[in-house]
Amino acid sequence: MPLESVWKKTLSLLEKKMNRPAFELFMKRIVPVSLSDNTLYLKVPGALSMNYLDEYKSLIEDASSEAAGTRVSVIASHGDTGAAPEPSPGAAHFPLPPAAAAPHQKQRRRGTPFLNPKYTFENFVVGSSNRLCHAASLSVAEAPGKSYNPLFIYGGVGLGKTHVMQAIGHYIINTKPHLNLDYVTTDAFIHEMMNFVQEGKLLDFRNKYLRSDVLLIDDIQFVQGREGTQYEFFQIFNSFYESKKQIVITCDRLPKDIPTLEDRLVSRLNWGLIADIKPPDFETRLVILKKNVENSAVAIPEEALELIASTVKSNIRDLEGTLNRVIAHASLSSREITTSLTREIINDIVPLKAPLTSNIQSIINEVSVYFGVEPEDLIGRRRKREIVMPRMIAMFLAREMTDRTLSQIGKEFGNKDHSSVLYSCEKIERELQRDSSVQLAIDNIKSRLI
Ligand code: ADP
Ligand code: MG
Repeated sequence: MPLESVWKKTLSLLEKKMNRPAFELFMKRIVPVSLSDNTLYLKVPGALSMNYLDEYKSLIEDASSEAAGTRVSVIASHGDTGAAPEPSPGAAHFPLPPAAAAPHQKQRRRGTPFLNPKYTFENFVVGSSNRLCHAASLSVAEAPGKSYNPLFIYGGVGLGKTHVMQAIGHYIINTKPHLNLDYVTTDAFIHEMMNFVQEGKLLDFRNKYLRSDVLLIDDIQFVQGREGTQYEFFQIFNSFYESKKQIVITCDRLPKDIPTLEDRLVSRLNWGLIADIKPPDFETRLVILKKNVENSAVAIPEEALELIASTVKSNIRDLEGTLNRVIAHASLSSREITTSLTREIINDIVPLKAPLTSNIQSIINEVSVYFGVEPEDLIGRRRKREIVMPRMIAMFLAREMTDRTLSQIGKEFGNKDHSSVLYSCEKIERELQRDSSVQLAIDNIKSRLI
């Protein structure tokens, strides 16, 4: 069987077995080179290269064996396939630009935005929770405007959205200094726009952004309820999209879950690639801690790091925060960092973070902000879907995060009886299994409450 048809069939088999972003990002960029002696030789594009191959090799072997009708093994090399957009010259695996831009480099560009020098690809630990997002970001950084536009990154608080977005920024500034890049938080975007509007210079505002070649917008969820900003953003978005200039957006949820976001914006944000970042697994948490320790010149036993990694699961910001407290505590008390000291400190911190600190009113407030509904609706009885789901989530959180009984919770939710609270909690537990946006909403709201 000729190479082309085996590969074509292999791809169509793989397409059914893999999730779409992984398939688009990786498989479609592989170039088959030859097929002889039951060995399939492949070329993998430089930047996404071999790390992914290891992960998918057995899947590719199975699919190509099925396609060829005989057992096939795969040998891959990496290199410029022509399919990969602008691979860096002479790059080995994951070519990385120098960590942060040197000051003299910055001056060559128009008003380089401030990016945190720590937020580079080099410092970004890749694990199963963020692998696709990392790959997509790297691909966008290598070929802005050419691979995924817009790139929409979403995930809970403290999971690395800003980090990976700024890594794209650093990479582009270092490898393509002629490009103008803007990084802006949605809050800053809104304030800046209001200032321009006050001075009657809205056009200048728009033009300022239109001069940019790459636009990184952080935390887009904050445009909720702001029609004027949404309109401006829409105009800028269209212009960027049409001129194939790269847009990268981060958000704490999917576009469809941002309340009051206009439909036309939701649909535009869905045009490119949507990549999520999930909470890191234990291994990734440990690697992140080790990386932080490497940079800090203190000695911490491995066991102590494992203890932190196994205790702090919520997000990376808390993970780093806990490590920093341990380091600070030890240095203030001039004690050596041992596992038992670490345990002591964690025990001091963690109870503070544990549930039972929230009261029902603050839960109701946070849920109403997150979903863009009125607090009164959450304790009312209206049956509209946009309200029913947030109301159930609020009751669920009240049961999880307070020590109130079902009846007490029912009372605070407009005198409902305990069975309707129980029903809501059970319903949300089922939804959690089924719909990852419910999990994300709950994680986000919780992180604001703790
Ligand atoms: P978010 O924007 O999603 O709230 P951040 O990007 O601010 O989260 O990340 C929070 C902290 O965690 C930062 O200090 C960041 O450097 C660190 N961090 C996040 N993801 C990673 C990662 N994959 N590897 C190393 N550090 C990370
Ligand atoms: Mg952020």
